[in-house]
Amino acid sequence: MGQTVMDSAVGIKVIETVSAMREWVKERRTDNSIIGFVPTMGALHEGHVSLIRQAVKDCTHVVVSIFVNPLQFGPHEDYQKYPRTFERDLELCRSAGAALIFHPEVKELYPAGSAEQTVVVPPAKLTDTLCGAFRPGHFTGVATVVLKLFELVRPHQAYFGEKDFQQLKVIEKISGDLNLPIEIIPGKTIREADGLAMSSRNAYLTAGQRQIAPKLYQSLCRIRDLRVPDKAELEKAIEKEKSLLSADFTVQYLNVCNAQTLEEADAIGPGSVVLVAAKLGNVRLIDNVIVD
Ligand code: AMP
Repeated sequence: MGQTVMDSAVGIKVIETVSAMREWVKERRTDNSIIGFVPTMGALHEGHVSLIRQAVKDCTHVVVSIFVNPLQFGPHEDYQKYPRTFERDLELCRSAGAALIFHPEVKELYPAGSAEQTVVVPPAKLTDTLCGAFRPGHFTGVATVVLKLFELVRPHQAYFGEKDFQQLKVIEKISGDLNLPIEIIPGKTIREADGLAMSSRNAYLTAGQRQIAPKLYQSLCRIRDLRVPDKAELEKAIEKEKSLLSADFTVQYLNVCNAQTLEEADAIGPGSVVLVAAKLGNVRLIDNVIVD
């Protein structure tokens, strides 16, 4: 039997089981209601909050999931030490107007263990590039958990940040390819005052690294603002930015891509996106700017 809905200390409802989640949705998915959904891994910040606020504006009931998904972490990645700030997250969700937190344990979503789990494999063309090239299996883990969560929450609208641009494209693709009856709504990247994209992983940065981290965004903006006549000049300019960043970061990629297909673009202009992933010590940061 599923556990019933719990009232947390801060007054927002929390559900931990699949059966209770199904019950809750069944009661609320009436003809006139719109269910909004914001999937997260917790350690919430203003980036998450902006998605929740957007959802609250658009929808009758907003569900936020907080689940650190082991399936999307590689064996040497930060699954164990990923920041977990559940009590604070509850308060942020409540004050942003969410109706419910879905917070299952790993064994609730993967009762047979993650190795035995049926998975959703997005097309290689979208995932063997950019982050996917450095994190094998990552987008399969993301697609699998998102499809499971969609099936349990049954939202009309689901909100994803442009900060994780490749993830957004993967979700849009699986949603289209599998005819999911869910509108995928992108949210703008929320930044600190100095331009650093907000991320739960920023908590890992030392004070010194935190000072350097905004250089990524500065680099992206310089590339976005380039006026280069051809592909060769663009490549030269990207190489120059890469070598500048390499003084502080281990750059994994710095690319200009077509914002729909993620294929490398020959030019910068409307419809392209500049993306970066780089490590500062052990902390992996990603960011992008969309060219309007
Ligand atoms: P995460 O908890 O990192 O899995 O992120 C949950 C959702 O929040 C994803 O859709 C992210 O793209 C989104 N998100 C994370 N950081 C930001 C940010 N700085 N601005 C906007 N959305 C974000």
